[in-house]
Amino acid sequence: MAVPQNKVTRSRRNMRRAHDSLVADNPAECSNCGELKRPHHVCGACGHYDDKEIVAAADEIDIDEDAA
Ligand SMILES: [Zn+2]
Repeated sequence: MAVPQNKVTRSRRNMRRAHDSLVADNPAECSNCGELKRPHHVCGACGHYDDKEIVAAADEIDIDEDAA
């Protein structure tokens, strides 16, 4: 089994971890519904991206009961 040759001090360990912090999202307002959404992602509230509807909202989908 590989064994570390030298003890990593608290200082060196913490220096290594200085860049490990998570960065908060930068949410942007949806241009269609105004809901906060992730940049460059389809809006989770209305399914629009770049003012075009990409994903139909659940209440807009017409499910024909007889077809099934
Ligand atoms: Zn939206």
